[in-house]
Amino acid sequence: VKTYRIASIPADGIGPEVIAAGLQALEALARRDGGFTFDVTEFDWGSERYKKTGALMPANGRDEIKDFDAIFFGAVGAPDVPDHVTLWGLRLPICQGFDQYANVRPTKILPGITSPLAGVGPGDLDWVIVRENSEGEYSGNGGRTHQGMPEEVGTEVSIFTRTGVTRIMRYAFELARSRPRKLLTVVTKSNAQRFGMVMWDEIAAEVAKDFPDVTWDKMLVDAMTVRMVKDPKSLDTIVATNLHADILSDLAGALAGSLGVAPTGNIDPERRYPSMFEPIHGSAFDITGKGIANPVATFWTASQMLDHLGESNASERLMRAVEKVCADGILTPDVGGKATTQEVTEAVCEAIRGENI
Ligand code: NAD
Ligand code: MN
Repeated sequence: VKTYRIASIPADGIGPEVIAAGLQALEALARRDGGFTFDVTEFDWGSERYKKTGALMPANGRDEIKDFDAIFFGAVGAPDVPDHVTLWGLRLPICQGFDQYANVRPTKILPGITSPLAGVGPGDLDWVIVRENSEGEYSGNGGRTHQGMPEEVGTEVSIFTRTGVTRIMRYAFELARSRPRKLLTVVTKSNAQRFGMVMWDEIAAEVAKDFPDVTWDKMLVDAMTVRMVKDPKSLDTIVATNLHADILSDLAGALAGSLGVAPTGNIDPERRYPSMFEPIHGSAFDITGKGIANPVATFWTASQMLDHLGESNASERLMRAVEKVCADGILTPDVGGKATTQEVTEAVCEAIRGENI
């Protein structure tokens, strides 16, 4: 029996609620499968720790988790701590420190869930967005001079490297190749941004030569938002920069019914460090403590985590269980239902235990 060591970081708001749900589902899967177990260590990193100690995570935090098989992350952000402090104090140090350069965001309309797009149902929207997760607009470069004065200048410098762009492009082409339609859309803004973005286009064309079986096209990010809404069926695998894909994937989550169903994996494809799996949504202060957070995004990212660990049977079983429960109409309020987090979680665990899942 294999034991996977999981570092869980529930952090803020609804993070602990959805991570608890995810761990229940993982436990049910381990029991059902019999071939593996989980050894979960929880870390109390987040905004409460920041308010007490001045740091969201310990200075040597990454060392504490570097030997785990995977990281299971909730959400970070508190009403009384600036968002740039929480983001740069916890999520980004882990993503960037462990060089999790591929942020993988599958999106599809689950059965029983209604898309805000009229006439678009399951099967009409089935995408994977690959977000460059290590550089670009979130390189942390820039500064402010003359702060607070009329002549103040603020810069936010995007950095794109040939190494960084080539590796994410190869990852995206490989992923597109592994999917039935073998279709990739490369998103940039190379009409207005003439340097890094034109380099993206050129590298895409170079990498494409190694993937003659993949059909690919280019889109400008603004036109891409229109295509996602008007012609979702024409898209399959999508690759974009850190900022562009951040925005496009929130849109994708909304088009698939709710941010509460959208998962993401922060992957180190070279497996030098643990990868990190999390729902896309934030800490959702407006519903914290009400017991109605949608756990589906967290189940889905747990499925991504199982796949990454090599447990593809359990990964697929979890998604079949989630799809069954959604199809049965056991849904939280954000997707039009009346069920609580715990009711959805129990239904998913029950489905996992069932005969024909
Ligand atoms: P949010 O994702 O927390 O919430 C946006 C809306 O979606 C809210 O109305 C919320 O109730 C709803 N929602 C989100 N997840 C849901 C779920 N699982 N079930 C049901 N409804 C859900 O985004 P926000 O309000 O812009 O940000 C709140 C805080 O979260 C901020 O501090 C922000 O910085 C942080 N944040 C963190 C992450 C992260 O940790 N990766 C991502 C986004 C935002
Ligand atoms: Mn985001």
